[in-house]
Amino acid sequence: MKLIFHYLKPYVPRMSVGLFIKFIGTIMDLLIPWILSYLIDEIVPQKSMRKILLFGGIMVLCSVTAWLTNILANRMASKVARDTTERLRHDLFRKVSYLSCRQVDDFTVPSLESRLTTDTYNIHQMIGMMQRLGVRAPILLVGGVFVTLTLEPVLTLVLLAVMPFAGGVVWYISQKGIPLYARQQRAVDTMVRTVRENASGIRVIKALSKSDYERKRFQEINRELVKRETKASVTMAASNPLMNLFLNVGLTLVVIAGAFRVYAGVSKPGVILAFLTYFTIILNALLSVNRMFMLYSKGVASAGRIREVLEAPEDLEIHTDVEQKSTENYLSFEHVSFSYRGGAVSVSDIDFTLKEGQTLGIIGGTGSGKTTLIKLLMRFYDPQKGCIRIEGQDIRSIPSEKLHTLFGVVFQNDVLFSDTIAENVRFGRNLEKEQLNQAAKSAQASEFIDSLEEGMEYRLAIRGSNLSGGQKQRVLIARALAADSPILILDDSSSALDYRTDARLRQVLKQKKTARATILVAQRVSSIRHADLILVLDGGKIIGKGTHAELMKNCETYREIAAMQMGGGEEDCEKASL
Ligand code: ADP
Repeated sequence: MKLIFHYLKPYVPRMSVGLFIKFIGTIMDLLIPWILSYLIDEIVPQKSMRKILLFGGIMVLCSVTAWLTNILANRMASKVARDTTERLRHDLFRKVSYLSCRQVDDFTVPSLESRLTTDTYNIHQMIGMMQRLGVRAPILLVGGVFVTLTLEPVLTLVLLAVMPFAGGVVWYISQKGIPLYARQQRAVDTMVRTVRENASGIRVIKALSKSDYERKRFQEINRELVKRETKASVTMAASNPLMNLFLNVGLTLVVIAGAFRVYAGVSKPGVILAFLTYFTIILNALLSVNRMFMLYSKGVASAGRIREVLEAPEDLEIHTDVEQKSTENYLSFEHVSFSYRGGAVSVSDIDFTLKEGQTLGIIGGTGSGKTTLIKLLMRFYDPQKGCIRIEGQDIRSIPSEKLHTLFGVVFQNDVLFSDTIAENVRFGRNLEKEQLNQAAKSAQASEFIDSLEEGMEYRLAIRGSNLSGGQKQRVLIARALAADSPILILDDSSSALDYRTDARLRQVLKQKKTARATILVAQRVSSIRHADLILVLDGGKIIGKGTHAELMKNCETYREIAAMQMGGGEEDCEKASL
């Protein structure tokens, strides 16, 4: 709740006005039955048409005022709820984009997605409802009891006897509801994750005829969600019929007791009529409180989930106390070991140096730790052991905004957005049109872009699905090249290029003077064979380190890969790379 109060703070003046208007409307609602009883018992017997019309007119005035003020207050409440949620969602999104990769792994992406959508929506609902009913329901409850006490103290006892039961039901059910909603929300996370996996892997699923299997898997998760939803709703829904039961029993008792009292001459019919209306108003107010508790339960569960993200500590702090070295190496990994979330070691004892202007090639099977090395270099994660330096400076001491401007990078399966090619290359950076064109040219993308009618203004579909694999890679490479970053990283990003284009691209990279280090991660020997240093990875370890010629001599695995890919001969190898 602290979180919600924090976000509501700027709207306190606006809310106060809204709540005051609501207060007036509610008082009007409470006045109407009282005026009615007075009209029936006191004015009608006087048989004065003028007075009857006057009191009737006052009742109409009260109704219209109540109606108008309620509309106005509800509109104001909606606006506050909308604005608060907008700020909350904005802050949450911002925080999510600053989470470290480790934290994203911990929360999981689907869970973050539902926190940004369903959970913020629940809070929106809660804030709206609290304002609409938060003032109205208590005033109707307390004010109603107060008016009935002045009208008919004896009958009020019936009301007071019923209320603890009704209140008890509301309290008990909302106590049960909160944990159930939290569990339901976790099931939603699983559901979102499955849908996400299915949507992104739809082609593989179809290609491998896994549709039935996936459907079954989805069904199970869907069923689990329905089970939890049903449990939460059934528990909460029990309150309404119970409250109606109390209402009807109470009304019956009032009618019986009232009839006796009118008959005995101690009460009047108008009072009994008003009393019945108040009784209904009061128990309806209790029902509203119950509804409020329901949304409150959901809102609190959601607020907790949002707070977890907002209060996630700064994971990758800037360390100023680390040792700096003066060295002529541009880039170095010093005995780096790392495991994701404390699991199996993903890379261990990685140790190498790269001089300014050199190219590093990394080769190895899938899962050998190639991408992990890149992620460590970009400080998506901190290694458990060892350190990484750029120009002798430990990367843990470089502020992340500065660190990230050092890299131009293309990852495996990188994303293109549904925007023009130019905007995808620009990627929100302040780049001139000429730079974009030059980058496209260097990335060997100009040819296909020029063949498009709109050229750089060609609009891509979501994830660039209206381009071929090779074309997508070229646009991504152009994005990485566009800012002339000092460190250029291409992570398995030329795999969809034909050999000729791949070779031309490498030629351009070699001539590029702005890059102070180039890192090529590849499955193909031909893509990295000209690198100044090549690392051969296997199971997270370096099993070969050196130039192509050295590795061909000393590293059996490298030799095998080369032999497999190029028929073994140096000449084949040379040919393939041209
Ligand atoms: P490569 O790029 O060589 O294919 P990776 O560096 O992606 O390999 O992966 C190395 C190892 O780390 C693999 O065993 C993989 O399962 C594991 N791994 C990669 N990413 C994660 C992650 N986010 N969480 C847990 N384990 C991961």
